[in-house]
Amino acid sequence: MMEPMSHTVSLPDTGRFFEIRFESIGGLGAHAAGQVLATAAVLRMGLNGANFSSYGSEKKGSLVRSFVRLGPPDYPIRTSAPVEMPDAIVVFHAALLRNPATLAGLRKDGTLIYNAPQGPVPRELSALPRTARVIRVDALGIAVKEQSRPNAVLLGTLCAAFSFLDAGKVLDALSEEFAGRHPEAVASNERAFRSGATEFELLASVGRAEGDLPASRTEPVWGYETQPIGGIIPEPGNTAWNDLSASRTGWLPVLDREKCIHCGVCDLVCPDLCLVWGDAEDGGKFERELMGVDYRYCKGCLRCVESCPTGALGKEAETPGLADGLRVPLFPDLIG
Ligand code: SF4
Ligand code: SF4
Repeated sequence: MMEPMSHTVSLPDTGRFFEIRFESIGGLGAHAAGQVLATAAVLRMGLNGANFSSYGSEKKGSLVRSFVRLGPPDYPIRTSAPVEMPDAIVVFHAALLRNPATLAGLRKDGTLIYNAPQGPVPRELSALPRTARVIRVDALGIAVKEQSRPNAVLLGTLCAAFSFLDAGKVLDALSEEFAGRHPEAVASNERAFRSGATEFELLASVGRAEGDLPASRTEPVWGYETQPIGGIIPEPGNTAWNDLSASRTGWLPVLDREKCIHCGVCDLVCPDLCLVWGDAEDGGKFERELMGVDYRYCKGCLRCVESCPTGALGKEAETPGLADGLRVPLFPDLIG
């Protein structure tokens, strides 16, 4: 049974809800993070709060947003609309920064926390408000080290960023969430949470925009008055246009051509035909040679790495820009 509330924490006095948006992909635990945070706020911190998530298909790799709305205990929450103008955005995967909707609506004094190892700051972040706070944490690196998941790390960073979020109570809620189903994960989650609360970087002078960022409204493109005549396909497309970068969970297959014997086993197991082949040079031992990987279509399943008999394909942690730098395009004429 839940302990009675010992105290109520103070929210920033803004006269409105404090709102957080988790931007993620299926499999990284954003939905669970939102649930844990809202549960801790309501049952352990004496706040009023709500959480819900939106996602498309249930499969791993699809876009997931989780929304948390917090208010004083006597402040009823009567909306369940998505958070459009968040005080904080937590990005679980750096590839999501390419999508302008990820940063949409961040308030000028808001906070962005994003998961990436040290390295150059993605240029997309210059679209942030000049006055916003930007925090980077290597959530995947910490999660791998502690045998946990990025959501535990990012919750730790979020609590460190906002003193009204009681880290001890959020950690208690996180541990309780796992104690029943995965007791073996409780200790590793705790270590990951504590590392997330300390091993982050505050980045200076990142944003260039003035004021709040505009919200992204996902209204239907067509209504009953504007829809095209039946039978017309106004936006033709095919799988060649797909970009699966955001489906990766932090790892990339990287080819060492010196070790490759061009056997084609990787191509047999790849579910998305990402391996790019070219004609071998005249007089060479092979007719066709593996040139590299088109990361646009790679979802990071690493089947190719597991199957490669020579170790020519290895796995590397994805850092911003790595995939773009190594990419060998399958369709060089495709623009975009
Ligand atoms: S499985 Fe390994 S050795 Fe064979 S073609 Fe692929 S990368 Fe080269
Ligand atoms: S990790 Fe390898 S097998 Fe998986 S999608 Fe990417 S290239 Fe294909």
